[in-house]
Amino acid sequence: MVELHDRKKPAKWPDLIGRCIVSLILVLLTQSTQFLVPHFFSDLSFFIQLLLSAMMLLTVASAAGWCRRLLRVRSSAPAFVFFSVLFVWLVYIAFVRQDASLLMNLLFNGQIILLIFGLCRMLFSDPGLVSHNPSPSDAIPQSLVLEIDTHHQDIGLGDRLRCCPICKTYVKGFDHHCPAFGNCIGHKNYVLFMVLLFGFIWTEATYITCLSQYSAESELLDGDGARLEVNFSRKVARSTMLFSILQLVWQVAFFSWHVYCICFNIRTDEWIHWKRYPEFQIVVQSEQGQRSSEMKFRNPYDKGILQNVKEFMVSKQ
Ligand SMILES: [Zn+2]
Repeated sequence: MVELHDRKKPAKWPDLIGRCIVSLILVLLTQSTQFLVPHFFSDLSFFIQLLLSAMMLLTVASAAGWCRRLLRVRSSAPAFVFFSVLFVWLVYIAFVRQDASLLMNLLFNGQIILLIFGLCRMLFSDPGLVSHNPSPSDAIPQSLVLEIDTHHQDIGLGDRLRCCPICKTYVKGFDHHCPAFGNCIGHKNYVLFMVLLFGFIWTEATYITCLSQYSAESELLDGDGARLEVNFSRKVARSTMLFSILQLVWQVAFFSWHVYCICFNIRTDEWIHWKRYPEFQIVVQSEQGQRSSEMKFRNPYDKGILQNVKEFMVSKQ
């Protein structure tokens, strides 16, 4: 549904504006289809509505990807995230704010402003770039190989230089390329990434709490006599609640995975592609003196949870 950030070719302004407009249309399309669930299936249980919302999201994502390829238009993943945050904020201001306490209002508005600030900061942060491959192909020029080799000798394997397959860029302590934040995640911005991810989880949780209060209030109003306006705002609120819960589920899962990575000092790319990196391999001879041997995984960077977490905390330099 969304396009990956390409570091090799910085987009020009007209192209960038075009991608942002496509992302805005995608956000409006996603939120409109989410609205259909409480509109047509309000009698079903909340869990079933949640499942329908998830199915709707997947359908829209596939259909949008297909249309995008057909029309040959590109979108921007960070712009999609930005407009989604903005949409939720607008729904909050329009409907939910009136029933929230002053403290909740201050908290939620502050969180959204911090999120937007964090998103911008992440977009332009340095993940720990070393050099990048200017050629359009996947092949690494000989000069760059020499440069990386020399660098490895200078700084040692501890720097864990890996190549981002999207940006064709070498990044210290590379974890993964995050399309949603439009950047590689590496040694220098891993802490910022975790803080931002936690910020998203906290904001979504606050929003869901506010929405629960709002739903209860509008339920009371509805009891006095159904009003079209209340009905509409309640459905919009309910659809953004379903969307937020789905976001929260995958964000918590993603955050938990990264907590595991930090505790055991392994990066996502290393965990998936450990067979590419010799330091993660250990050859074990099979029993009974047979000639065959098998390759097993071992993590040479794991120094115990406490030390690993300590290293992570000082990694942002
Ligand atoms: Zn990248």
